[in-house]
Amino acid sequence: MNAPVFIVGAGIGGLTSALALAAAGFKVELFEQSAYLSEVGAGLQLSPNASRVLIALGLEQALADNAFEPEAAEVRHWRSGNLLSRGPLADKARKRWGAAYYHIHRADLQQLLLAAVRDNAKIRLHLNAPCKAVTALQDAVSLTLANGDSHHAPLLIGADGIHSKVRQAVLGDERPSFTGHVAWRFMIPIEQLPADLVPPVAGLWMGPKAHFVHYYVAGQRYVNCAAVVEQSAWQEESWTQRGDKQDLLDSFSGWHPFIQQLLAAADEQHCYRWGLFDRRPSQQWCKGRIALLGDACHPTLPFLAQGAAMAIEDAAVLAQCLSNHAGDHVSGHTDIQAALTAYTKQRQARVARVQNLSRRNGRIYHLTGLPAVARNLALRLGLVNPLKTMDWLYSQ
Ligand code: FAD
Repeated sequence: MNAPVFIVGAGIGGLTSALALAAAGFKVELFEQSAYLSEVGAGLQLSPNASRVLIALGLEQALADNAFEPEAAEVRHWRSGNLLSRGPLADKARKRWGAAYYHIHRADLQQLLLAAVRDNAKIRLHLNAPCKAVTALQDAVSLTLANGDSHHAPLLIGADGIHSKVRQAVLGDERPSFTGHVAWRFMIPIEQLPADLVPPVAGLWMGPKAHFVHYYVAGQRYVNCAAVVEQSAWQEESWTQRGDKQDLLDSFSGWHPFIQQLLAAADEQHCYRWGLFDRRPSQQWCKGRIALLGDACHPTLPFLAQGAAMAIEDAAVLAQCLSNHAGDHVSGHTDIQAALTAYTKQRQARVARVQNLSRRNGRIYHLTGLPAVARNLALRLGLVNPLKTMDWLYSQ
């Protein structure tokens, strides 16, 4: 394919997709609606299935410089603080799954991807370029930007997030649904906490109708906290809606003193809350010469920490499928239909499994009464080991 592939959206999925396509020899034009790229102040868990892709794209050192490698994943009881389960990460993760398990600030990940994109002569990044419409033509795709400019490409990838415009062109105007979960997020500078309060782990605390997650980011300079509660309705869907800290404190009253210490340290000007939305697994990922990727295709609850990881995997698989169906340099012909069929086939079942498991985790984390007692017992006796059941996901 001699003409550039278009990507709409320069989030984690779009940036990775641009790098993966360029590494496979394709030229890329990347269109992002924002005038400059910025990410919310929140962390991201990058499991080995995702870090492996980024390492293969040459980002190993950049990741090592920016990310934090937790020692273990721990699950604790919300009130007693008792350890219910512990699974080793760090070296053990590398050995078991062949790549590191990282924690990283979203902005750090975005910046290191962006730096690699800017360094790559095969990629042209257009900022302040919102996509207004996408139209499938006979042998091309037409992209219309908000300023009225129109461009054509042999293939267009929609990586424009949960409210994807490109998705509308593929699947029509079907809205994501509120899942009944609201997430709070805040970050605490480490100097505001007593020394050694927070262990270097991926910490998950499970309680009745709520859970709390904490881990280090930005070279252990911040503790990233995410607290999820249940709520019957939600109006807005934004990453930047400030919440009333008192509501957060009320939601976690009675929780262990460790959680109370983290909550007390949260800056009330920077406690954000947002409703969590998802979609049922999609049957259709592509239409004609348009392909969907990441949240545009399969928004996923964060209870398996896999939304961005799936976007990163999508990017690698799509580039590989296009490369497998690329013609020789003389004809420059790529069998796009065959490549997109292969992409859908490789991704659909795996991503649906992740979406369904994420939903199921939401129910398990929030159990109350006897079912919660049974869950805790199963964890303590080692009948269930959350990390050991991840081989199918992290090893691939
Ligand atoms: P986005 O990040 O939404 O990027 C879309 C991009 O497209 C944006 O830059 C946007 O500006 C641009 N755009 C949108 N519309 C247009 C348009 N019309 N024209 C041009 N550009 C456009 N995942 C993990 O793997 N690990 C985790 O630990 C994890 N934790 C999470 C915690 C929470 C609380 C939540 C809510 C999610 C979490 N996720 C996690 C999921 C992860 O954040 C998302 O799955 C991921 O960010 C999706 O990336 P994306 O590139 O597909 O979409």
